[in-house]
Amino acid sequence: MARVDLDGNPIRPLTICMIGAGGFIGSHLCEKLMSETPHKVLALDVYNDKIRHLLDPEDLPWNGRIQFHRINIKHDSRLEGLIKMSDLTINLAAICTPADYNTRPLDTIYSNFIDALPVVKYCSENNKRLIHFSTCEVYGKTIGCFLPKDSPLRQDPDYYVLKEDSSPCIFGPIEKQRWSYACAKQLIERLIYAEGAENGLEFTIVRPFNWIGPRMDFIPGIDGPSEGVPRVLACFSNALLRREQLKLVDGGQSQRTFVYIKDAIEAVLLMIENPTRANGHIFNVGNPNNEVTVRQLAEMMTEIYVKVSGEPALEVPTVDISSKEFYGEGYDDSDKRIPDMTIINKQLGWNPKTSLWDLLDSTLTYQHKTYAEAIKKTMTKAFAS
Ligand code: NAD
Repeated sequence: MARVDLDGNPIRPLTICMIGAGGFIGSHLCEKLMSETPHKVLALDVYNDKIRHLLDPEDLPWNGRIQFHRINIKHDSRLEGLIKMSDLTINLAAICTPADYNTRPLDTIYSNFIDALPVVKYCSENNKRLIHFSTCEVYGKTIGCFLPKDSPLRQDPDYYVLKEDSSPCIFGPIEKQRWSYACAKQLIERLIYAEGAENGLEFTIVRPFNWIGPRMDFIPGIDGPSEGVPRVLACFSNALLRREQLKLVDGGQSQRTFVYIKDAIEAVLLMIENPTRANGHIFNVGNPNNEVTVRQLAEMMTEIYVKVSGEPALEVPTVDISSKEFYGEGYDDSDKRIPDMTIINKQLGWNPKTSLWDLLDSTLTYQHKTYAEAIKKTMTKAFAS
């Protein structure tokens, strides 16, 4: 049966230039596009480990529909040609791990703003549609966090729910270099928006709210540097796998909403296949029902990992650590992130489905299956030497 869009029109097969296709989100998006659609993907990245299973065997049913191009977009003259060959460009490439924002602010700003400039320019000049990945961090802090601690207004959604078309972007002072990422993302959003307004660029901006699932980041010392600090899901998974305490930065009081990667990818596919409904829009993509503090996340992951691994939890599973000790000078944080879902609901009819418990259960099952043996081996080796 021919695929149709939300308005009942047939969807024609597209060629998609996906930059950063070898990362966490890119790997899930490539998988979805290969298994469920006729679209072709030109997959650009410096790494391809996470999509190798889609590229290697010649007899895969989608053989020939995905092509990997090992390209660093900082300096590669092939970029414009690949964008020109495509109907749509999706830009996922970025440095996006909080441990880098205050320790490598220059790399962070270059990656999230300067390196994205040619992508926007080539799309605009060649009349190509662009889906650009921004972040929920562009909202920064909530208005509510500036109210007195005991103010009843803190419970009023008007003071904390984040809306694409009306919430302000509130960052800390410049010396809090943590905001280098959010600020670079905000400026590239403004540039894309201006290209749309002045030059007619067809764009969609995605603001992910903590998408998590299998293949997110790396486990230090196994498939990433031993000293590396990945995002919270991989940090906590690593500690659970090694039977170490989970470190709670500043007591783990920040509140976050987590959405399952597979739910979020459904939203991206709707954007890809419904350009008239998605163009010109900025979309929050998150799950407002899955809110926890980082401390609660740690407790939930500990409980689920006991079930998945069959090993008892540590007597004291978590330990508090200051942000200065964990992230270094210049760290700061968003207090709370609840996405407003009105726009994505109205334009694309999308809603997240998976509960936090279920998404952590399937993710930790994957982490255990993928890494437990390898970690045991490295720990035995270290013990023996
Ligand atoms: P990721 O780090 O797993 O993927 C990014 C990919 O981009 C990596 O494979 C990396 O090698 C590639 N890349 C970086 N610089 C490149 C360059 N110069 N040339 C070629 N490739 C390059 O991150 P992700 O979680 O998949 O995130 C993708 C996008 O979504 C990013 O823009 C990020 O800021 C945004 N985002 C993600 C989340 C989330 O919850 N995962 C939240 C907010 C924003």
